[in-house]
Amino acid sequence: MEQTIQKPSLLSLTVEELEAWMLAEGEAKYRAKQIFPQLHRGISPDEMTNLGKKLQEKLRASFSWHLPVVEQKLVSAIDGTVKFLFGLADGNCVESVVMKYEHGNTICISSQVGCRMGCKFCASTIGGRVRDLTPDELLGQVISAQKEIGERISNIVMMGIGEPLDNYDNVLKFLHLVNCEAGLNIGYRHISLSTCGLVDRIKMLMEEDLPITLSISLHAPDDETRSAIMPINNRYGVAELLDTCRAYFARTGRKISFEYTLIAGKNDSVENAQKLARVLNAHLRSRTETMPIHVNLIPVNEVSETGFRHSGREAVAAFAKTLESKGIRATVRRKLGSDINASCGQLRRAAMKQK
Ligand code: SAH
Repeated sequence: MEQTIQKPSLLSLTVEELEAWMLAEGEAKYRAKQIFPQLHRGISPDEMTNLGKKLQEKLRASFSWHLPVVEQKLVSAIDGTVKFLFGLADGNCVESVVMKYEHGNTICISSQVGCRMGCKFCASTIGGRVRDLTPDELLGQVISAQKEIGERISNIVMMGIGEPLDNYDNVLKFLHLVNCEAGLNIGYRHISLSTCGLVDRIKMLMEEDLPITLSISLHAPDDETRSAIMPINNRYGVAELLDTCRAYFARTGRKISFEYTLIAGKNDSVENAQKLARVLNAHLRSRTETMPIHVNLIPVNEVSETGFRHSGREAVAAFAKTLESKGIRATVRRKLGSDINASCGQLRRAAMKQK
């Protein structure tokens, strides 16, 4: 069993890598393009009847094949949101959520088992980071969820457990794999990546020139407020982060959206909103450039361990109105799946406690 886990995963290979393997094994190159689309639909080589026993055996001997296994599946009676707890080959588990929108099904996937960023309001980081997810595990969440719901998933947000830019190489390979025409063929423009603000990695990502959407978890307008809830701010402050966002936009032309989780008494006053508008305008706009700015306001999901409370409806409305009055688009995140509890990380924590 242990040996199986150490073999490279079939799902981590690009078409080109699979072609090279076929040739090295004395097989026809076209076999790669024959099996790749099936693998990405969750069909194992053993289930591919047109392969021949010999090739099936060679694949089994050289590679491992694991899809995340559905350990729990919760379906919202209100809006059809589906939340999965997926089991991985080594016994760890992560969460993914499928949200049904008019423009198609969107999956929110996890990027790590746990997280080491330490944001004070977040359930995913409470036990620290256990390990990074591999490209096949990132992709496997999409494949398994799609198989399970029986409908195409057309959009991906990397906003589940973990910090995607803290798992940079695997995430980049995953983006390439999921975008592959012969596989799931999900366009980069249909993929969002959310980060707590790893400035050096944002600069690296900018050079990759991928038209994905970047989301920044800002959550505070100044260093004092932000450092109190997000330790990463001690390393990269608000000004440096926003200047990097401006450079990212200038380089890629892709607008960036900002996430702002409203926590009662911490970052949700009208004064905080005024400061936020001021700092966004100062760093992202000048007389010659007008970067469209969009702030997503998210009333904090209450996590029992953190003790943070969400802001009342009036505070949220006042915050949004203040931003709008300063030329900044603000929307309040619609809460999907509210009946299946589900601020990210909580299902995994509950399962861990049970084990
Ligand atoms: N590490 C990445 C992506 C995962 S978190 C990031 O920080 O962006 C996805 C989003 O959910 C982030 O904006 C995060 O700050 C937010 N979040 C985490 N815990 C939350 C909670 N309890 N309530 C509301 N939003 C939360």
